[in-house]
Amino acid sequence: MRKPLIVGNWKMNKTITEAINSAKTLKSAIHNVKNLEVLICPAFTSLYVVANILKCSNINIGSQNSFWESEGAFTGEISPIMLKDIGCSYVLVGHSERREIFGENNKIVNQKIKTALSAGLIPILCIGETFKERECGVTFNVIRKQINECLLGLTYEQSFLIVIAYEPVWAIGTGKTASFNQVQEIHYFIRKTYSEIYMDAAEKIRIIYGGSVNSNNISDFMKKYDIDGALVGKASLDIESFIKIIRYS
Ligand code: PEP
Repeated sequence: MRKPLIVGNWKMNKTITEAINSAKTLKSAIHNVKNLEVLICPAFTSLYVVANILKCSNINIGSQNSFWESEGAFTGEISPIMLKDIGCSYVLVGHSERREIFGENNKIVNQKIKTALSAGLIPILCIGETFKERECGVTFNVIRKQINECLLGLTYEQSFLIVIAYEPVWAIGTGKTASFNQVQEIHYFIRKTYSEIYMDAAEKIRIIYGGSVNSNNISDFMKKYDIDGALVGKASLDIESFIKIIRYS
C-alpha cells in the first residue's frame, strides 16, 4: 500500500509572518489526519521557523530547491546538508520553473538528486512535457528520457526513496488540467518505465500529479490507481483551500 502524499509548493510567496500563520492554521486543522502524508515547501527564508512550528506534527517540511554540491565556494546556493540540518525531509528537484527559467537540465537534476540522497533528503523528481511536445506526440519519449537521465546511476536501494511528480508544463499555474484518464495513463507509463530499471521498487514509489489541482478536482485524481497524491502550487497558498484538498475524502 502506498501512502498518498499531498505537497504544497508555496513557491516565492509568503513573508515569514504569513508562513508562520499558515503553518499554525494547517497544523491545528489537520492534526488528526492519518490516512495521508502532508508536506509543505515554503521559501528558504521561512523554512527554519516553519520547521520548528511543525516539529511534533504530522506535517513534513521540504525545500523547493537545493544545490548539486554539499559544501564549498558556491555563493548564493544552499546545500542539502543544510536543509537536512534545519529539519527538511524532502526536496523538489527539476521543477519546470527551474528548468525553464534557470536552465536546469536532466544532467543537473541527476546531480542534485544524488547529492540530496546522500544528505538523507527524499527527492521529489518533477517531470513532464511542454505543450509543444504534447502537440508533437512525443510525450512518452520525453517522460522516458527524463526518467532515464535524471535517475542515472541510482542504486537499487536508492530507487525506493524517490517520489516522482508528473507535472505537464502546460497545466502548471494555468487552470488547465490533463484529464483524469490521461494522467492515469502517463502515471502507469512512468511506473512501467521505472520497473524496467528498478523492478519491484516501481510498485512502492509514489507518483504524484501536479498541474492546477484544487479542492474540486482532487478526489477524481485520487481515485486512479497510479495517482498517489498531488503537488499543489496556487491552491496551497490559500491555507483553507489547501486544507480542503487534504480533506478531499
Ligand atoms: C506546481 O507549482 O508544481 C504546480 C503544480 O502549480 P499549480 O498547482 O499552481 O499548477
